Amino acid sequence: MPTLTCEISQSLWTALQRKSEETGESVSHLVSRALADSLQVEHGTLFQVSTSGALVEGVFGGVVSVGTLREHGDFGLGTFIDLDGEMIVLDGEVYQMRSDGTIRIPDDREQVPFAIVTHFSPDATAALPPFASFKALTADLDARRGTDNLFFAALIRGRFARLHVRIACKADAHESLVEATGHQAEFTHTDIDGTLLGFWTPAFAKGFGIPGWHLHFISDDRKHGGHVLDCTAEGLTVALEHIDDFRVAIPETAAFLAADLSGDTTAALDKAERAH
Ligand SMILES: [Zn+2]
Repeated sequence: MPTLTCEISQSLWTALQRKSEETGESVSHLVSRALADSLQVEHGTLFQVSTSGALVEGVFGGVVSVGTLREHGDFGLGTFIDLDGEMIVLDGEVYQMRSDGTIRIPDDREQVPFAIVTHFSPDATAALPPFASFKALTADLDARRGTDNLFFAALIRGRFARLHVRIACKADAHESLVEATGHQAEFTHTDIDGTLLGFWTPAFAKGFGIPGWHLHFISDDRKHGGHVLDCTAEGLTVALEHIDDFRVAIPETAAFLAADLSGDTTAALDKAERAH
């Protein structure tokens, strides 16, 4: 990360130190936050479109345009209308990975039903030890979090010896998330170079988020990708960012307003997001 060196008045410096002592936040964090506010950069904010509960109930209609999503983040994941594939947002570009294995770049005017994005600004980058499974990878990532009660964004780059992904198939009318992902497409790649990215969501957010690690992949040649179910790799690097600010764009579509979102979605999300 870049280092900022500048001169400020004694009174500002005193106020900054006092604030840091009061809140326990580092001076770097306070300055970054103040600059982000002043420059209108949503630093450390997660912007989510709709809720996981709505997805579980089969509310797959468009809510926010791709263009609006790109204003709120350059990094993230999601899906498309009628669950037509997996979304990954990397370096400000939005990609639609479809169940026939193709990848397209959607127009800014296209609508999306669910997505999570942020302006990625990692706290730290580190070498990852070799891992043989998604479970082993996420156990390693868990050890780096330090708390269960913040959101985290992770970006992992390198060569994957083995990668197993799924891509949701377009849902039929009135299908729920579990029914729709029951006929998902799955692909296995070997020795593939690319980027794996996504989020860790705390358990307390289960009503609107997808608790645990949720990671999507896209290859460096932008030809392959999907929602990651399993992977094996060595010699990779990980960049992590903790996120303490969360915004949700709650849909005002008729389908969302009429949906029953009072149920516990834990089992359905676990089946839809991890089963293969
Ligand atoms: Zn996914």
